[in-house]
Amino acid sequence: MAKRKRILSGMRPTGPMHVGHYWGALENWAALQDEFECFYMVADWHALTSEWKAPGRIPQFGRENVADWIAAGVDPSRSVIFVQSAVPQHAELHLILSCVTPIGWLERVPTYKEQMNELADKGVDNYAFLGYPVLQAADILLYKGDCVPVGEDQVAHLELIREITRRFNSTFAPVFPEPQPRLTRTPRILGTDRRKMSKSYGNDIQLSHDEATAKKRVASMITDPKRPRKTDPGHPDECNVFSFHGLLSPRERVAEIERDCRAATLGCTDCKSEMGARLLERFRPIMEKRRALLARPKEIDDILAAGNDRARAVAAATMAEVREAVFKTAK
Ligand code: SF4
Repeated sequence: MAKRKRILSGMRPTGPMHVGHYWGALENWAALQDEFECFYMVADWHALTSEWKAPGRIPQFGRENVADWIAAGVDPSRSVIFVQSAVPQHAELHLILSCVTPIGWLERVPTYKEQMNELADKGVDNYAFLGYPVLQAADILLYKGDCVPVGEDQVAHLELIREITRRFNSTFAPVFPEPQPRLTRTPRILGTDRRKMSKSYGNDIQLSHDEATAKKRVASMITDPKRPRKTDPGHPDECNVFSFHGLLSPRERVAEIERDCRAATLGCTDCKSEMGARLLERFRPIMEKRRALLARPKEIDDILAAGNDRARAVAAATMAEVREAVFKTAK
């Protein structure tokens, strides 16, 4: 049987996961397992670059996130689930790649300045945050990832990682494949107040929420701002509730909702409550499974211990090649 291509992806454990994370990444992670050999990483060192002033909750968020991943269909018997800081080779390769990466490449990353402003209170004017893409390159290259799941907006970011890869390969030896983008669909789901869905805004629907909280959040959702009264025709394409229906309801029902909304024969309260019921129907099994898993902490410990061992074995073999390339065959 042909060797399956390898994929690497990770998440920063900076808080609880919400339905936006599910549709933006987790659903896809579960599906990718059919096609790829998958390495899924708790990116705790990445979390540290911005959370270094208050890192105490990172380990617990990591464990809870792993429970979410598994509940959402990531299967530890098929995929390697591991913690970045349990594999010290990430730091070693990061340092070597730092040598081949000009500072200007990092300063030109479009999201760097944006995030510096957004996260100003977290002290991200540090060296580690500037080097974030180099650590990402190390994460991928350590496992010789063939592909990386990315949304359209992240392709440029991956191009920087590919440039770092080319520079290493041409300077020392062609150790690494150039990781290719695996484009993923990331539906545009906003928070209940129409801002980006985020725990810090209190506008998210979390996989850890109980049903009453989830229902309350759905009921509080802002709908079409141009439809102040039920008798006004609605604009479903501008309504976040309608976006949720697009992900949850059968196609024919979505078409009916669109028609009735525009005709002002469907009210927002009914529309939201139907969506809320479908949301719970979809997420109830995931919510229950993550709760059950977290009640068996040893199981999560064992999964991570096995994943860390598998990741370390691959990382150790890659680093042996890297040291050979850098110290013995450098031009
Ligand atoms: S009826 Fe539904 S789709 Fe239309 S504006 Fe209200 S919540 Fe949105």
